[in-house]
Amino acid sequence: MDFILGEDQQLMAEAAREFAEKKLMPIAEKMDEDEQVPQEIYDELAELGYFGMLLPEEYDGLELDTLSYTCAMEELARGSAGVMVGISVHNSLCSQAVYQFGSDKLKKKYLEGMASGELFGSYCLSEPGAGTDAGSLKATADEVDDGYVLNGTKSWITSAGHAGVFIVFALTDKAAGDKGISCFIVERDTPGLNLGAKEKKMGIKPSDTREVSFVDCKIPKENLIGTKGEGFKIALILLDNGRIGIAAQALGIAQAAFEEAYKYAHEREQFGQPIANFQAIQFKLSDMAIKIEASRLLVHKAAFLKDKSRASKECSMAKLSASETANWVANQAVQIHGGYGYVKEYPVERYFRDARVTEIYEGTSEAQRMVIYRNLDRKNL
Ligand SMILES: Cc1cc2nc3c(=O)[nH]c(=O)nc-3n(C[C@H](O)[C@H](O)[C@H](O)COP(=O)(O)OP(=O)(O)OC[C@H]3O[C@@H](n4cnc5c(N)ncnc54)[C@H](O)[C@@H]3O)c2cc1C
Repeated sequence: MDFILGEDQQLMAEAAREFAEKKLMPIAEKMDEDEQVPQEIYDELAELGYFGMLLPEEYDGLELDTLSYTCAMEELARGSAGVMVGISVHNSLCSQAVYQFGSDKLKKKYLEGMASGELFGSYCLSEPGAGTDAGSLKATADEVDDGYVLNGTKSWITSAGHAGVFIVFALTDKAAGDKGISCFIVERDTPGLNLGAKEKKMGIKPSDTREVSFVDCKIPKENLIGTKGEGFKIALILLDNGRIGIAAQALGIAQAAFEEAYKYAHEREQFGQPIANFQAIQFKLSDMAIKIEASRLLVHKAAFLKDKSRASKECSMAKLSASETANWVANQAVQIHGGYGYVKEYPVERYFRDARVTEIYEGTSEAQRMVIYRNLDRKNL
């Protein structure tokens, strides 16, 4: 067992760290306030290949192993979780939907554009009445002679405002429950695809989150991804990928919060000395470091196994652990800052808000525990 990252992983992590420090951190506060990401940031990320991290070179991707991808994503999230989440959804969920399950025709048509960043991806599974119970979705895709007609509403869709393609899950057989769900790719300009207003969120504010609705939205037959009725299975397989991305996001937030807290503890003086001299503060910093390290080991193990098998349990364990760590660490970072942690003058206030959603999307913490329990048996942890 080797705990040292390989050369490829270190290179990806260093490159992403440099980008995060030079391009994201200086404007992270402004992006949070403006609730948007300047287009130049996405353009630069595209130029550096961050839109095709998991796609093979054949489609102009970087063809990274999952661990290298994870290391890069943690660093981007350390710079801005609100920028990183769209990149994660695009790579882990959307481009993988087409690459792993799409026909050769769909791969040829969309993957180069997705790898180049020309076609930003959004993933449309959740609905107003179907969140954790995603298999109970109500959107429909009725088959007609020359295509499918989509109707229904999708909630909380990341990057919807600037997406070029939408991966959409809808019922092709209403009587078959989750076995009647199919997966489609829908282009942005398709008549009948409508975007709602941007959600006013607690955190990850730069990310554009909206409702997406479909009203008699007609798409060609060839836009079916996988086979009819296979959609729910596809959604769950993709979410294993996605959870590694969100786990990396949570690690990045936790790491950033730790670094700020450590720095502040050595600068802030009370009772004539830095507060870092007090054992209560030292113990907090030690516990933060242990939790981050433990979660990072779970995330790296899940990323390593993901390239060998599906690893649902490990992906859920990694996401659950890292997201709970991010929330706990960000909370401690605010505490170490005292009153200054409660105002926008220091970034820990933002980390605290950004961390919260990592326990909600791509499966809540309760949903992760359900996946983990389903994959346990007495002799096999
Ligand atoms: C900022 C943001 C971005 C998002 N981006 C996307 C996106 O791009 N695409 C997409 O499809 N979705 C997206 N989502 C949706 C997200 O995946 C859902 O919010 C999440 O799955 C939870 O669903 P829900 O909000 O309907 O909560 P609910 O499912 O209603 O859950 C409410 C509470 O009940 C608990 N609960 C539910 N069922 C059980 C059970 N059986 N046992 C125990 N507890 C249970 C939950 O854990 C939670 O605590 C996003 C959400 C947010 C907030």
